[in-house]
Amino acid sequence: MIPLSAPSLSDEEIQAVVRTLRSGRLCLGPELEAFERDFAAYTGAAEAVAVSSGTAGLHCVLRALGIGPGDEVITSPFSFIASANSVLFEKAMPVFVDIDERSYNIDTRRIEERITPKTKAILAVHLLGVPCDMDALNDIARRYGLLLIEDACEALGGTWRGQKLGSLGTAGVFGFYPNKQMTTGEGGMIVTPYPEVAALCRSLRNQGRHGHNGFAFERLGYNYRMSDIQASLGRVQLRRLDSFLEERRRVAERYLKNLRSCREIVLPPHDIEGQSWFIFLIRLADRFTAEDRAHLMELLRKDGIQTAPYFPPIHLQAFYSEQFGYREGDFPVTEKVAKRTLALPFFSQLDNAQIDYVCDRLLKNLSLVPV
Ligand SMILES: *Cc1c(COP(=O)(O)O)cnc(C)c1O
Repeated sequence: MIPLSAPSLSDEEIQAVVRTLRSGRLCLGPELEAFERDFAAYTGAAEAVAVSSGTAGLHCVLRALGIGPGDEVITSPFSFIASANSVLFEKAMPVFVDIDERSYNIDTRRIEERITPKTKAILAVHLLGVPCDMDALNDIARRYGLLLIEDACEALGGTWRGQKLGSLGTAGVFGFYPNKQMTTGEGGMIVTPYPEVAALCRSLRNQGRHGHNGFAFERLGYNYRMSDIQASLGRVQLRRLDSFLEERRRVAERYLKNLRSCREIVLPPHDIEGQSWFIFLIRLADRFTAEDRAHLMELLRKDGIQTAPYFPPIHLQAFYSEQFGYREGDFPVTEKVAKRTLALPFFSQLDNAQIDYVCDRLLKNLSLVPV
């Protein structure tokens, strides 16, 4: 089976983890601090705070920025569900704005019509590692006095006008699940230029504590800590990140070359300055239905190729539509795209023969899907 994704782990990671285990210092130790320092340096951010997941990072940032009941946060319905869920954790309302059909990111031309006196923030998702238009977003945020949070969980290493994604707004969040550009097993990172936001996030991840240890709890907090075992793994992965990104670009380019002439397939956003390849998401032509896609996935599975229907629209998930009354048709671009997208195997060690095999089977099976 060619899997959808696979982390790249070398002896270096294994040795680093073993070293941490032998040190006896597994939590809140030197590896955690060093990983945060390394990560801040890589992204060019003043502050970095490691947490237990990308979702935990988003939650901490929203809480630290004071977003709460009655507030509205503008975000995209075409994303991994954690981006909108993090707003609900704080009893604020995610207000969806449909996506741009070419970039799959929030359509910045349609944000202003959804701004109300309750709007506190824009939560921008750099989906698939494709940078959102940060000039437009920063301009809107400035004019309306909004916070700008970047969900950069799919965009580590990506840039906007030369600056690393995640470092362009009030705060940015990364995730290190094993399918991301780099992994710590589970894990996440918050970056921000504001020391007071970083300090709040450090407290929130550690039960609301004042400082690292002790029993003074200043606020309601969580256990969102990253262990030193994870941090030592992360430090090695971060050192190897640029080579991962290069390999991911190679894989993407070979897919693009192999699939370019197929008129039944819309290629993922590509040739975009500052893009960091996260997954390779093709879209079937408009004449295909969601059932056709399921049929195609089944045929590919029989050929030993794993695929996934990324991302079902958030507003159509049962608990969103039940709680908030969303219906089919509310965000037509997202729905049209989401019905037909398919993630192909994508990771840095995928070799050219495997890519060619996936493309060959994809094109053959596509011709078997009845019209
Ligand atoms: C992966 C991801 C997250 C965070 O995921 P975790 O599994 O909690 O680390 C958040 N937003 C997006 C868009 C993601 O792809």
